[in-house]
Parts: sequence; C-alpha cells; structure tokens
Amino acid sequence: MLESTVPPGKRVLVTGGAGFIGSHLCDRLLARGDEVICVDNFCTGLKDNISHLIGSERFTLLSRDICEGGLDVSGDLDVVVHLASPASPKDYLEIPIETLEVGSTGTKVCLELAEQTGARIVFASTSEVYGDPWVHPQKETYWGNVNPVGPRSVYDEAKRFSEALCMAWHRRYGTNVGIVRIFNTYGPRLKASDGRVVSNFIVQALQNESLSVYGDGSQTRSLCYVDDLVSGLTALIDSDVTGPVNMGNMDEYTVLQLAERIIELTGSASQITFLDLPQDDPTRRKPDTTLAFELFGWKAEVSLDEGLGKTIDYFVQRLGSAGSIR
Ligand code: NAD
Ligand code: UDP
Repeated sequence: MLESTVPPGKRVLVTGGAGFIGSHLCDRLLARGDEVICVDNFCTGLKDNISHLIGSERFTLLSRDICEGGLDVSGDLDVVVHLASPASPKDYLEIPIETLEVGSTGTKVCLELAEQTGARIVFASTSEVYGDPWVHPQKETYWGNVNPVGPRSVYDEAKRFSEALCMAWHRRYGTNVGIVRIFNTYGPRLKASDGRVVSNFIVQALQNESLSVYGDGSQTRSLCYVDDLVSGLTALIDSDVTGPVNMGNMDEYTVLQLAERIIELTGSASQITFLDLPQDDPTRRKPDTTLAFELFGWKAEVSLDEGLGKTIDYFVQRLGSAGSIR
C-alpha cells in the first residue's frame, strides 16, 4: 500500500465509533496520533468495544443519537467519518425506522457539521447499494438491483439516499466528501448475537451447535478482515478522493464453504442445518477493488484462514470469560 503523505494529528469525529468497524478505526487513528471524538447511541454498538479508550487524553465519547442534531463539538474538525448505522440484517430489520433515520437525517447532520467546520466527510456506504447484482464482480460504475419495498430496503435505500445526499452537498457547497462502499467485513468485536454469518457460525461451532446455513448455502460472499478494511478507510480519510470507492476482499466463497471451513478450523463436532433463505438475500457478491488499488495501492491482504483464526481466538476468549455475551 502507498504511504500516506498526510501528517497525523488530525481531529476526527467518528459516528458509530463504538461499533465493530468504528472501534477498530478509533484504535487506528489514536495509535497514529489523531484526536478522536466518538459519537454513539449504543443501539447496536457496545461499551466494551471502546472501554479501553475511555480516559485516554485524545479520546472523547459523546453518548447520543446523531439524528438529534446539534453535535456539540467546539473547535476545529479535520474529518467527520460517518459510520453510524445498524449494519447486520438482524439489527436493521429489528429497528427499520431508526435505520432509515440515521441514513437520512443522520447523514444530513454530519454533512452540516462538515460544512460548518470545513471538515472532510467520509461516508460509509455498502455493497448493498448493488442489491442482488446482475453484474459480477461489482464495479463502482454498476447502479445496482435493489428492491425498494423489500425488507432490506430500509438499509439499502438509506445508504443509496445518503450517497445521493453526500453528492448533492459536494456539488452544491463544494463539501469535501468521500464515499466508501464497504463489502462484508468481519473480525474481533463482531457481536456474538448480531446475526451476521461469521459471528453466527463461529459461536455455533464453538458451542457444538448446528451451523445455520440459510437456503442451500450456494449464495456467495467475499469476506474482508477488519484490519484490511481500516487500512483502506484510513487511506480514503487522508485523501481528497470523492469516490465512491469499493473496499472489500476479492476472494469469493459460498456460505456452505464458509460453514465447512469454520467447522474445520474450530475442530467442532457441529453439523450443518439448512434453514429458509431470507427474502431478497443477494445470491452473489464480490467487489472489484481495482479503483482502490489505483488510488491508494490498497487491496485486502489477510487470507480467510488467517482472519477467521483471529476471529475464532476472540470468540474463544469472549465465550470463556463472560457469563453472558452480546
Ligand atoms: P455496528 O452495528 O457494529 O456499528 C454501528 C454503530 O453505529 C453502533 O455502535 C451503533 O450503536 C451506532 N449507531 C447507530 N445508529 C446511531 C445513531 N443514530 N446515533 C449514534 N450512533 C448510532 O456496524 P459495523 O459493522 O461496525 O458497521 C459500521 C458502518 O459500516 C455502518 O455504517 C455499516 O453500514 C457500514 N458497513 C459495514 C459492513 C460490515 O460488513 N461490517 C459492510 C458494509 C457497510
Ligand atoms: N447467513 C447464513 N446463516 C447465518 C447468517 C447468515 O447462511 O446464520 C447467510 C445470509 O443468508 C447471507 C450471508 O450468509 O447469504 C451473509 O449474511 P450476513 O447477514 O452476514 O450479511 P449480508 O451480506 O447478508 O448483509
């Protein structure tokens, strides 16, 4: 990857900073010398994810819903990174209205803050803007195939609307906007109960329960380890690139292959159970990350086995040390 030419020491506001990706980003920014203001209402995030940062000189936590507006940030800001949004299908189907709200009002609040402070804003979009894609692998130029009235639309359409809002602000006010389309990302700090495929399968395997494969498991995903994603995100933060830019791992696996690999890596006695496929579940997904490589020399580098190994270690620790895990 190309070395960033931007000196550290920025003041960065991270919405959703107590979430899975957000907490890893906070760690990375603090480690390189930035000041971080984390805003989170903990609707899907966990205090545990950032408890090690509380009390650090360059870290501030604002426990609040960004949709309420009026983010009380005195002084200059260099960057707003807008990660706040439920991301797991289980989560966003449980709080659909809040998901639409944070992906509309919440994004507007962030854009206003960026405009007022002259900060750059980086918006976390998603591969879900491509829906159930007819183009494979997905390039940024593909406009997608989303069901606007299906259950997943609360997430997909909020993200598409947010992208449009970012571009409108950029065109109208010249706001320095960056859009990243994140593909399935996994690693330590995924919630055990958030319903995503990697956390579900690992927790089930470690407890010798059946792995819940939805449908026949032939649908594909391309899984990016969180450290890789945060490296790409940091490169985008440090640039003036508008995007959208895909970030994800290009290695594609079926869900059934993933289940079988997790059983092998955990040495589990678990079987596989086939359950109903959720409505509008995308049949295949794989990013084309050529643009991120051309712009930043970035590509995902952590192999599935290496990333799964680290994630399994994390869940072994969580399951071993806590009476109840979330
Ligand atoms: P997460 O649920 O772990 O984190 C989201 C965080 O946002 C949580 O801490 C939550 O409490 C917070 N939040 C939600 N609504 C809020 C609000 N109104 N005000 C303040 N805080 C709020 O999810 P994640 O996996 O870390 O995803 C982070 C971002 O990346 C999301 O925007 C998601 O859409 C995007 N993304 C993630 C993935 C992935 O595979 N993890 C893929 C594509 C896009
Ligand atoms: N999935 C599964 N079993 C689970 C959880 C998910 O088979 O316990 C499947 C899901 O149907 C989808 C894929 O795994 O095809 C990825 O699901 P996830 O919720 O992690 O993310 P998505 O890409 O759907 O947003």
